[in-house]
Amino acid sequence: MTPEERTAWFLDAARLPTKIPAWEHHLHSTFTDGTDTAEALVLLALELGLERVVFTEHTEPDLVMGPGWFPKYVQEIARLRDLYVGRLDVVTGLEVPALDFAGQFLLDEADLESVAFLLGAVHRYPGVTWEEMPDLEPERGIDLEFRATMGLLDNPKIDCIAHPGGMCQHHITPFPMALFEEIVQKAVANHIAVELNPGYQKPTLDPYLEICRRHGAMISPGSNAHKPRDLGLACRTLQGIVDWGAAT
Ligand SMILES: [Zn+2]
Ligand SMILES: [Zn+2]
Repeated sequence: MTPEERTAWFLDAARLPTKIPAWEHHLHSTFTDGTDTAEALVLLALELGLERVVFTEHTEPDLVMGPGWFPKYVQEIARLRDLYVGRLDVVTGLEVPALDFAGQFLLDEADLESVAFLLGAVHRYPGVTWEEMPDLEPERGIDLEFRATMGLLDNPKIDCIAHPGGMCQHHITPFPMALFEEIVQKAVANHIAVELNPGYQKPTLDPYLEICRRHGAMISPGSNAHKPRDLGLACRTLQGIVDWGAAT
């Protein structure tokens, strides 16, 4: 997406509407590690009244359904998009993991021409195995996650940063809000959106939203939905915060 397209695509944290659009920007199907097919998820999204779903399948070879998955994925999402055009916006995206601290990410067999939305994520820290991750010193985990995220923000192809601080938060230690704020500031400067994700940003989204609001960040409601019950969780949570603010 171009910077202008991103402005139109994401939400402005400083000017949230009273009715949050029913968008799910972070979703996995059986093409990677989700439990349900893309078609089942689209049908559920229609039932839930969602207006946009973005499939953000992984590119790590151990998470995809098998060799040759990518063209099948692109074809199936295009079929669903055509089938439900006018009722639900069905978007082809990818969640690409950082490979280093300089903004390189893993595409494997995927190609960027076929995707409309690129979610940059820190998953495995560069130079560290999954097995080593829970035993990292907290300071080291924080530092690796922060630097890998800041690297992704230097890559203009990235449209949005997934779950900032999330791996550290999930596997090691709480990720400092001051560093989350630095990530948000760089995202704003480079015109990249920040994901608000209730699965990782705990105990509540409120302080994360507040930082995004203060810096006028573009935000992206992403639930990292791997199961049907997660679909739309992020936009419902945002709606709850907006409703609560209006009522108090
Ligand atoms: Zn992720
Ligand atoms: Zn994900």
